[in-house]
Amino acid sequence: MSSIAENYSSIGQQIKLATQKAGRDANAVTLLAVSKTRTAEDIRGLYQLGQRQFGENYTQEALEKIAALSDLPIIWHFIGPIQSNKSRSIAEHFDWVHSVDRLKIAKRLSEQRPSHLPALNICVQVNISHELSKSGCLPESAEALLNQIAELPNLSLRGLMAIPAATTDKTEQRQALASMKHLFETLQKKHPSLDTLSMGMSNDMEIAIQEGATMVRIGTALFGPRS
Ligand SMILES: *Cc1c(COP(=O)(O)O)cnc(C)c1O
Repeated sequence: MSSIAENYSSIGQQIKLATQKAGRDANAVTLLAVSKTRTAEDIRGLYQLGQRQFGENYTQEALEKIAALSDLPIIWHFIGPIQSNKSRSIAEHFDWVHSVDRLKIAKRLSEQRPSHLPALNICVQVNISHELSKSGCLPESAEALLNQIAELPNLSLRGLMAIPAATTDKTEQRQALASMKHLFETLQKKHPSLDTLSMGMSNDMEIAIQEGATMVRIGTALFGPRS
């Protein structure tokens, strides 16, 4: 087996175990393979092992890979910061966007979504650790933004996404993830369409699953370190 195949199998086991340990449904957590900086051939290899959902951060790089892999029914997620002038490409080529943090971008994505495609699935990115210079809306502004996005015709409001402040302190990691879960559950009462809590990366996947993540975004632990 290649090392990516070994990693894929091991991540699958870890997700299964963490989900069981948390007393959650066996299918409660979806793996999003984060393939930024990886080649189209790496993605094709993982697809052949069964992976269907891939996340990309950089528009130009992603568009090249999406074109090279257009023979495969991959579900593409955009997870990087969105510049206004890239919104059209994202609206045209992706199935999901996790990094919407302002109304202006949401409006553009809705206006630019081609009419022959289903509504674009949207997660609102929340700056849960209140970090300066980080993307994401502040937790206290999330409700107002969700209310506005819910009105846009070509978007399907699905959930929240967070990248907590980098720390190796398990208590701090858990606090940030738990406050995301709390916010998610609060907003679900008003927006029952919310079914996706996108959090958990290579270094906090297990805690994120314990704290209610429904989608974990894994790059390094699958493909190895990025150069
Ligand atoms: C790169 C990236 C990931 C994956 O991070 P790893 O630590 O490599 O697992 C997840 N989410 C976002 C938004 C990223 O940019």
